[in-house]
Amino acid sequence: MTRIAPRDSVALMEGYHSPQLSVDVRLNTNESPVPPPPGFVEALAAEVAEVEWHRYPDRAATELRTRIGELHGVGPEQVFVANGSNEVLQTLSLTYGGPGRTVAVFEPTYALHAHIARITCTGVAEGERAADFSLDLAEVRRVVAQAQPAITYLCSPNNPTGMVETRETVDEVLGLVPGLLVVDEAYGQFAPWSALELVNDDTPLVVTQTFSKTWSMAAARLGYLVGPSWVVAELEKVVLPYHLDSMKQAAGTIALRYRREMEERVAQLTEERGRLEAALRELPCDVWPSGANFVLFRPRTVDGGDVWQQLVDRSVLVRNCSSWPRLGGCLRVTIGTTDEDDRFLDALREILT
Ligand code: PMP
Repeated sequence: MTRIAPRDSVALMEGYHSPQLSVDVRLNTNESPVPPPPGFVEALAAEVAEVEWHRYPDRAATELRTRIGELHGVGPEQVFVANGSNEVLQTLSLTYGGPGRTVAVFEPTYALHAHIARITCTGVAEGERAADFSLDLAEVRRVVAQAQPAITYLCSPNNPTGMVETRETVDEVLGLVPGLLVVDEAYGQFAPWSALELVNDDTPLVVTQTFSKTWSMAAARLGYLVGPSWVVAELEKVVLPYHLDSMKQAAGTIALRYRREMEERVAQLTEERGRLEAALRELPCDVWPSGANFVLFRPRTVDGGDVWQQLVDRSVLVRNCSSWPRLGGCLRVTIGTTDEDDRFLDALREILT
């Protein structure tokens, strides 16, 4: 049997690398360290009992989109929902990218922006961030003028650096781009402002958010964007029919009833982030200030990859960025519960001192 090879660009591709190891303390994927409230689980179980299993789900996910729209002060026609914000990003790329088109990204940033572009046969124009990982507007101007990208990605707070872009920066980039500006706000609730306030039908801007982090619902795979209704209408043409199952639509709708609890979790995690950042600064580490639920740091005395392994040996898993371009020696730790963070800090102290 001859095995058919995938197309060249796929054959050369590396898949998503984030080992799912069995450890006591999992601080590697920026999930919420706590589950949603028991009331959510009970209400969802009751709702699932009512699902008409022999029928397709509501293709337009009307109730969920209406509720998300209410959360952000827009109508359902300005909301697109999908299986995680990754599928939202993929649908954007399928719709506005493709052969002969380019997306612009500013590295280091969320790797899936470029990866999804490549999967959808879209060119990638890579701009560089400044040495402190802030966005360099001169570089944005240069890349955008040269590549004329159909999509320009910003990520705020940026994964994995944690940096939040200001409204002035987003406004300025909006004025520069010839196509769509996508602001990925997977960690948006941790930031002091949101680009959602700039969204309207006359602005080529979309903002993506997710239920995976602050809503404590990574298991459900649910994300969305808020943008102009003309963008949402195009995305609806491209995404597979009935892509969002009935259980997930119910889960998202019910989760939104627990907004106050979500905001309390965000406040607690933000406080805990301050404690963790301060503790890291007392160790021989470079630490980048974060506006998200994770912190990027670089051990100065021991190789980052070795530190990662020694943490795993102590049953603590963080994200190993140490061999990523521009992030040599860096690790990224998710803010967990106080206990989890203490276990991480104790292990790190032991390794570094
Ligand atoms: N954007 C960013 C910046 C992320 O960090 C992540 C998750 N790692 C996502 C999007 C995707 O999240 P999800 O598909 O779970 O919504």
